Amino acid sequence: MEPGATPEQTAAVITEIENLGFTSHPIYGEHLTVVAVVGKHPGALREHFESLDGVSRVQLIDQSYKLVARAGREGSAFDVGGVTVGGGELVVIAGPCSVESEEQLMACARAAKAGGARLLRGGAFKPRTSPYSFMGLGERALELLAQAREETGLPVVSEVMDPRRVELLAQYVDMLQIGARNMQNFVLLAEVGQTGLPVMLKRGLAASIDDFLNAAEYIASQGNDRVLMCERGIRTFETTTRNTLDINAVPVLKRLTHLPVAVDPSHAAGERDYVAPLSWAAAAVGADVIMVEIHPTPSTALSDGGQSLDFASFAKLMDGLRGVPRYSYRSARAVEAE
Ligand code: PEP
Ligand code: MN
Repeated sequence: MEPGATPEQTAAVITEIENLGFTSHPIYGEHLTVVAVVGKHPGALREHFESLDGVSRVQLIDQSYKLVARAGREGSAFDVGGVTVGGGELVVIAGPCSVESEEQLMACARAAKAGGARLLRGGAFKPRTSPYSFMGLGERALELLAQAREETGLPVVSEVMDPRRVELLAQYVDMLQIGARNMQNFVLLAEVGQTGLPVMLKRGLAASIDDFLNAAEYIASQGNDRVLMCERGIRTFETTTRNTLDINAVPVLKRLTHLPVAVDPSHAAGERDYVAPLSWAAAAVGADVIMVEIHPTPSTALSDGGQSLDFASFAKLMDGLRGVPRYSYRSARAVEAE
């Protein structure tokens, strides 16, 4: 739509799209409203759409992912329990890999808050490589997360693995997490898309950026485009670290999608000594969000202790992060537009 288009003009465009048998997905940005048209060959009606009142131009999107494609759009920002993600300010999510007990989670929540994290994470249902490993406390963990939010004011995020549990998780969390192993669980993606809750989608261990964006499109196609894309390391030939952080993914995703981008250095490295330097790299390259795992006593953690930071290391990481200059895609796009 034109920058000065009225809500009535936008509404009339949406009605026309629907009358012609297409689906419309309006995206309301800070400066511009974009109406995405999905259906068979809407491009054939390009001139017709262009002639409607208030329409600035019609852009055809070649990629298979249409709703999440950048396509000249400004970066999208959304609210997660009162915290803006994608709004230009770096948001840190911290918390334990798994919620283990009330004491452990409350201690993490307080340390996260004191260090400047804006959201609290904590696994309730855990995807574990071995079926004999700790699987999480389930609903009890969700109750504890809600209690921690109550006490600290930090919104909470937790992973959902099973489409049958989406409703349960949605009762407790401010953002749902889809884990790397479920990135292409299309039934689960559709289910979380229907909740309307923000979703942090983690990149699959061996997923290309194209696969990753198409997975986000599954969620968006359900009418929910509040998706946070999380790079968490991919499998490569390298064995000194658990995974290899694909730092390229940040600028590549910034170019290809309007969705905000997160980096999870904890799972990428699998080793706590690398978490601070990789977090700084993520901030510098312009990630919108960084997610790190913390634990009061990492050596006793029931999952991912080796990559979890104790509270003193977390505080140090956060102090250092404040001094890291961040690459800004806003200004880069402004330059492109000139
Ligand atoms: C996690 O965030 O605890 C997790 C299991 O991550 P991933 O799905 O990226 O392995
Ligand atoms: Mn973990």
